[in-house]
Amino acid sequence: MTGIDDLPVRDELRGKSPYGAPQLDVPVRLNTNENPYPLPEPLVERIAERVREAARDLNRYPDRDAVELRTQLAKYLTDTSGHQVGLANVWAANGSNEVIQQLLQTFGGPGRTAIGFEPSYSMHGLISRGTGTGWISGPRNDDFTIDVEAATKAIAEHRPDVVFITTPNNPTGNAVPRETVLALYEAAQAAKPSMVVVDEAYIEFSHGDSLLPLLEGRPNLVVSRTMSKAFGAAGLRLGYLAAHPAVVDAVQLVRLPYHLSAVTQATALAALEHTDTLLKYVEQLKSERDRLVAELRAAGYDVVESDANFVQFGRFEDSHTTWQQILDRGVLVRDNGIPGWLRVSAGTPEENDAFLDAVREIKKEQS
Ligand code: PMP
Repeated sequence: MTGIDDLPVRDELRGKSPYGAPQLDVPVRLNTNENPYPLPEPLVERIAERVREAARDLNRYPDRDAVELRTQLAKYLTDTSGHQVGLANVWAANGSNEVIQQLLQTFGGPGRTAIGFEPSYSMHGLISRGTGTGWISGPRNDDFTIDVEAATKAIAEHRPDVVFITTPNNPTGNAVPRETVLALYEAAQAAKPSMVVVDEAYIEFSHGDSLLPLLEGRPNLVVSRTMSKAFGAAGLRLGYLAAHPAVVDAVQLVRLPYHLSAVTQATALAALEHTDTLLKYVEQLKSERDRLVAELRAAGYDVVESDANFVQFGRFEDSHTTWQQILDRGVLVRDNGIPGWLRVSAGTPEENDAFLDAVREIKKEQS
């Protein structure tokens, strides 16, 4: 039987595994930070209408520059952050993973490096590898905050071309203070200068504000966003970034022609028309997230302060065993391989109840 290693694959891919959160058929799935609420019916209707219109032109390539969509994304960012963002500042792609890939193809690549402060979003490292960019695992404190001194030292030492800062951080849930981002940006400029990518995939769930206003006067800063979480549209595959217009021009050097299908653009535009309704679900999820934090603590678990739609909880002697015990009770959570910890996404109140019942029961059995 021919396997991967029998093929002439690139050396750096040998022996590696693809991204693979389990997609199991269980009653309660709280493992991939999805939004548990299906899109509301009037939005489903509007998507069908917009896609029907787009279908009439499917013999033609889509708008390569996605002008209408980028204009509406810019309006959303301006309305929600108070920071003026225009069409020229925004770029969109198939999920923020593709945005990150395009950034690494543009600013990373062979002979260059990227750094992230781990544990953090594993795809930053995986996409680095896939684009031939060397990956540097930067440090984090035991409480999962970023130690500014250690992080700036790592930047000065390694002089990376790309610096990733995930806020709120995945999988730990905590937000990175504005001052920390500023300090790392300054360190990155002094060392190289390099691009600093602030991954705000979960920012709509945060108690604090977006870092978009920091873009002012900082052309090497990028803020990346997604419609997968707050907009409840993980299946749509729509991510975007805000940055200086020169960054938007630069990523176009690597994007595939017509990368964003007409169907994707039409669907995203329909979803943006329903922003107010979708953000109401975000408020509900924030209060459910706060309830998960409080109830897990009341049950005797350690919990990392969360600004996201998920919660990191522990501590376990063997997190994989506990993961299995929770699964045996019909609830799928995430084992990110961080010793002693597991992560649960905020679901509907009923799903969260099922999860809380499971972990209370497990705690009781252990004591
Ligand atoms: N960034 C972070 C921090 C994430 O957790 C995720 C999804 N899990 C993404 C980016 C990618 O999201 P998408 O490609 O669905 O936009």
